[in-house]
Amino acid sequence: MTQGKRLRVALIGCTGSIGSQAIDVCRQHADKLEIVALTVHRSTHELVALAREFTPACVGVTDPAHADDPVLSELPGSTTLITGDAALTEIPARDDVDCVLVAVVGAAGLPASHAALTAGKRLALANKESLVVAGDLLMPLAAPGQLLPVDSEHSAIFQCLLDGDRADVHAIWLTCSGGPFFGRSSSELEHVTAREALAHPTWKMGPKITVDSATLMNKGLERIEAMHLFGTAIEDIRVLIQRESKIHSMVEFADGAVIAHLGASDMRLPIQYAFSYPARWDTPAPRVDFRTLGSLTFDAPDAQAFRCLALAERAGITGGTLPCVMNAANEVAVAAFLAHACSFTNIARIVEGTMDAHTVERVESFEQLHDVDAWARTTAKNLLAQRAR
Ligand code: NDP
Ligand code: MG
Repeated sequence: MTQGKRLRVALIGCTGSIGSQAIDVCRQHADKLEIVALTVHRSTHELVALAREFTPACVGVTDPAHADDPVLSELPGSTTLITGDAALTEIPARDDVDCVLVAVVGAAGLPASHAALTAGKRLALANKESLVVAGDLLMPLAAPGQLLPVDSEHSAIFQCLLDGDRADVHAIWLTCSGGPFFGRSSSELEHVTAREALAHPTWKMGPKITVDSATLMNKGLERIEAMHLFGTAIEDIRVLIQRESKIHSMVEFADGAVIAHLGASDMRLPIQYAFSYPARWDTPAPRVDFRTLGSLTFDAPDAQAFRCLALAERAGITGGTLPCVMNAANEVAVAAFLAHACSFTNIARIVEGTMDAHTVERVESFEQLHDVDAWARTTAKNLLAQRAR
């Protein structure tokens, strides 16, 4: 960003939970942030309303089935419309964009993350699946300070590391709320419903990540995300249940010192930090009054009951194309669970079956990952169909 000029942001996936909170941050800091591009998948009415508020230079609609929605004729005359997959690759690379927030859900966000890094833009990355699938290819593209994590734990770790040398990190304590089913046994989990899974105790998020938080796959994905972001071995990234979601993560250094990041459970904080870094702007959320907080509690996760944690550890340790396969199978299984076509505990079984059927390869290219992702989706769907018979 040029000194004194507003940061020109592109919000990729502007209608979701992260996208809407990013819009809120932009409204609160209109003197510092300028929205120059917005994309949706199919929420064209919301897109048009936002375009009329912010008059971005460009908008994108990625789902081709919604490329001709009549409401798009109400876009401001100065706004260019890009439709289909091109929106994810062309918008991040535009000359008038300084920073790209990738807030798309799932592996579908990868092309936008790749395009932002290749074009030399700041990447504010909420889409953890990008790093899980293609961390091996994306991280070498990121210059120091170019990739700012938005995931709250990773933003916290990034901030804890500002004062320390990464070579002196002994362990990362990756905190986890425990989700709505904390304390339940494997047998108790057999019959939980999508409605119960969607009732997260501390965070309000999109449906896919909310289910991932209930299975603890979210924490498994986050360990792999942290492994890539911070160059830490997955064994040294320890999951810690912190029910109140007030400690966002901690870094333990060689000398035993543990630096923790605390604050409100509000995603606008890490979103804003990804825009403001290295500066700090006024908070977008109510502050925490530690005098009234009461206690902070800690527990170990139950990897027996929440099997997705162990599957993600296996994927992280094995590496190569296995995390891509795990992620794709998980996306298929979670979508089926939300559609009442897969039980909660079968999510892990579908993911494991797909991983078992895969012959792991070294990651060589985005095209290879695209093919592996497609193979894993087909395999997971076949496994789902077999279980339904
Ligand atoms: P949502 O489901 O709420 O929003 C997803 C957004 O992406 C919407 O704008 C949607 O558009 C768009 N989108 C959906 N599918 C596609 C696609 N195939 N191609 C392009 N765009 C698409 O998700 P969240 O905001 O909850 O999560 C976004 C990402 O951020 C995820 O990777 C998640 O893991 C991560 N994250 C989220 C957190 C949270 O608090 N929500 C916390 C930490 C990380 P449309 O409305 O048109 O469907
Ligand atoms: Mg998180």
